Amino acid sequence: MRLVRLIIVFGWLLASSVVQAQTWPREERVPGGIAIIKIPQQSEAPPQVVFNKKRVYTAKKDGQWFAWVGIPLNQKLGKTQAYWRTRDGDLPLPFTVKNKDYAIQELKVAPKHVNLSAEDLARVRRETPELRGAMNNFRPVVLPLPSIVLPTEGRQSGSFGLRRVFNGESRNPHTGLDIAAPQGTPIKAALPGRVVAQNHYFFNGKTLVLDHGQGLTSLYCHMSRFADLKVGDEVKAGQLIGEVGTTGRSTGPHLHWTMSLNTARVNPSLFLQKAAN
Ligand SMILES: [Zn+2]
Repeated sequence: MRLVRLIIVFGWLLASSVVQAQTWPREERVPGGIAIIKIPQQSEAPPQVVFNKKRVYTAKKDGQWFAWVGIPLNQKLGKTQAYWRTRDGDLPLPFTVKNKDYAIQELKVAPKHVNLSAEDLARVRRETPELRGAMNNFRPVVLPLPSIVLPTEGRQSGSFGLRRVFNGESRNPHTGLDIAAPQGTPIKAALPGRVVAQNHYFFNGKTLVLDHGQGLTSLYCHMSRFADLKVGDEVKAGQLIGEVGTTGRSTGPHLHWTMSLNTARVNPSLFLQKAAN
């Protein structure tokens, strides 16, 4: 009897440590947040869920499927719905998006990074579809998600969602988390995935994009140098992917880290155990 109880306790500890090791974001139903919605699908195959006509990441926890719905920063507040595609048609998954007041950040950068020359504008127009294509792709593979690795150690110098004003002019909101660190500090892959873009871009500088499957992607910008990787390579969580730098539109050495779900840029701190900002 005592032995049986011991086995049960040991089994529970093992199971709870397995659950702990799985990355599971915190929920925040706001623009730039994540709605986590239970899907009553019994089968082993991942359920098909769509939001704003984009396929949604699904993950299993304790035998139960959940959709991780990324909410874009420009999402209208109030009632909305994702859809679960079943044999009997699309079933609505309603949820409510609440307001979040993101702070304003004023920055001074080189004028050429705010008012672009015709040549630079042409370059940005070439580069944007390449980056968006890499970030917004839905690859129907289910990869294991071990504990997320903070990509670099340093001071959080810019939180997600800041409404940014460059040299007095309003520009797009901040779609990542900035971590200030000395030039050359290692940058690691947050999760296992495939390298889907690696290039030197006008705004983002030396940048790498990882695809973690099912529309979950991560972006790492402003690097001083890349690790020895190429597009198509598979990386493990924590693997070296580059070094901190200040290439592109940047005010000093830091890593800009973005996480994306169903083409929506979401707050990376929701994936960390401790809230960053
Ligand atoms: Zn940034």
